Amino acid sequence: MEATPESGNFEANAHITAAPDRRGTLLKYKADRGPVAYVVAVFLLRLTIWALMTPLICAISVIPLTVLGLFIAPINHHHQHVNSFRAGWLNRIYDLMLALQCGVGPFSWVLHHNLGHHVNYLNQRPHESPDESRWTRRDGSQMGRLEYSIDLLLHHQIDIVRVGLRHPRHFRSLLLMKLPLWGLIGVGLWLRPLETVLVFLVPAFLTLFHTIWATYEHHAGCRGSNHLDASRNRDNRLFNALTGNLGLHTAHHKRPGLQWSLLPELHEKIRNQIPKEQILKSFW
Ligand SMILES: [Zn+2]
Repeated sequence: MEATPESGNFEANAHITAAPDRRGTLLKYKADRGPVAYVVAVFLLRLTIWALMTPLICAISVIPLTVLGLFIAPINHHHQHVNSFRAGWLNRIYDLMLALQCGVGPFSWVLHHNLGHHVNYLNQRPHESPDESRWTRRDGSQMGRLEYSIDLLLHHQIDIVRVGLRHPRHFRSLLLMKLPLWGLIGVGLWLRPLETVLVFLVPAFLTLFHTIWATYEHHAGCRGSNHLDASRNRDNRLFNALTGNLGLHTAHHKRPGLQWSLLPELHEKIRNQIPKEQILKSFW
């Protein structure tokens, strides 16, 4: 399946921009104040536990920290599409804070997701250039959720390199950002090895696995042929409040460069063009 060109009519209707009073000075959009505050607060909590608590308390904290991390993953996704800060160096520091908490390194999401999945998600195997987050087996049949999650977990690093070789500028950025990321992890392991594993590495891995698990429902089984019928949406107020409108997935694929806080406007415009069974009202 290939992406089909959109109708000119739709594009005219889909012109959405943020009002000037929604723009920030340090942040690109004021809507990111809450997410940035949350990410920094959880990072400081993690740092405090890492620095001051015993290994037993750190072990008890693994699951609560993982749960807090689940809500950082969608924030990371949105930031990788539209950087939160105006200044590049602030975005890179924020990248590190996000990576240490949800197990996705700086620019990994850009390559695997923005330049891989968003470009190829209409192509499922046996297509010759399939989706990086593919949900079909080689014969075209649909994988189950666990099979999809393990497949994606095992393949995503290979696909990041493969996409990276086609996008050398972003690949270079990914490799350069490995230096501070691995440097910080190395210093942590050197100073407090067990605490680093329990407070950062294990929760980040579990958060990564949950992120992969959660993405299954976005497209699995939607054998669509264009952006309007290839995604499953969660049109639930609480879900979208907690995930920064991640449930408005058709709108996100229609305009991946549209900042997350503007997705409800686009969703309203296209709601009637999305197959009804691909708009779920429930939280789960
Ligand atoms: Zn995306």
